Amino acid sequence: MELEKIKNVGVIGAGTMGSQIAELFSRIGKYSVVMWDVKDELVKEGLKSIETRLNRFFVEKGRMTQDELREIMGRIVGTASIPETVKKADYVIEAVVESLDVKRDVFKKLDENAPPGVVLASNTSALNITEMAKVTQRPDRVAGMHFFNPVGVMRLVEVVRGTFTSQETMDLVYALSKKLGKEPVVCKDYSFGFLANRAYRGMRYEAVQMVWERVATPEDIDKALKLGYNLPVGPLELADAIGGWAIAASAEEDAMRELGPEKGKLHPLIRIMVRAGYTGRGGKGIYAFWNDVMSKW
Ligand code: NAD
Repeated sequence: MELEKIKNVGVIGAGTMGSQIAELFSRIGKYSVVMWDVKDELVKEGLKSIETRLNRFFVEKGRMTQDELREIMGRIVGTASIPETVKKADYVIEAVVESLDVKRDVFKKLDENAPPGVVLASNTSALNITEMAKVTQRPDRVAGMHFFNPVGVMRLVEVVRGTFTSQETMDLVYALSKKLGKEPVVCKDYSFGFLANRAYRGMRYEAVQMVWERVATPEDIDKALKLGYNLPVGPLELADAIGGWAIAASAEEDAMRELGPEKGKLHPLIRIMVRAGYTGRGGKGIYAFWNDVMSKW
């Protein structure tokens, strides 16, 4: 499939990432999008979240008219049927929960229902692309297309090559990322967390270790990294606000399974925090754990 021939896109998953990816394909790419989720209520929630975001970040700021919003929403339809989502698709991207079992199951269904030759991409943060490709009859047409959260703001897309991914598929995903206004980088699927998350996990581990050693407060550790390396946000506050410590813990467990204990390092402090319910992502995180618990130990 050539880039110019892509008109219809299937987005699998209407959660945090799926809904933002569907919005990007409609808003920037002007594609017709069918967005899938397991239940009608989730599809509706996903559509609602797109409309709310467009209103908040564009219409209310005078950057988009109501007519433009309606046009973007008019290009996105939702369904709880996989065949309906992909039967006319020229490109498919998957953004379901980060579980290889679930993704394999989804890829099998996508392969059975999408037209032959259509590329099936995954937005996985770290799971192995070859494992997903293997369950399909088109392993050369399966690649990673890893967007970052928030999708409308973050410019990076990691274009990930599995063992069987063809150069043609890589070129298409790369060109499509560019068309969507992103800056793609290319990598292989055999390390855990591709490029950005792999390096970031190392930094986060050391930041958590410094809290554990009481070298400094979480606030000062983040401040040092922000000012020392010109980062817009520190690794601890990022996990508190967006990533979440439960997801960090499960990513480390996945990395340990995949790469061994040298590479996957689940810090005891993360374990303790998650057990006590300090999981961040809107709730209490490491800043609160320092104040509520560690400062009293
Ligand atoms: P989410 O929990 O918001 O959405 C997950 C979606 O998967 C939901 O639509 C849910 O209904 C669906 N789902 C749950 N169980 C399922 C099942 N058994 N079968 C099919 N679908 C099922 O998650 P998210 O944050 O949008 O993450 C989706 C993907 O994007 C993951 O692979 C994640 O690693 C990746 N990702 C997430 C972020 C992030 O910051 N949230 C960033 C980059 C990549």
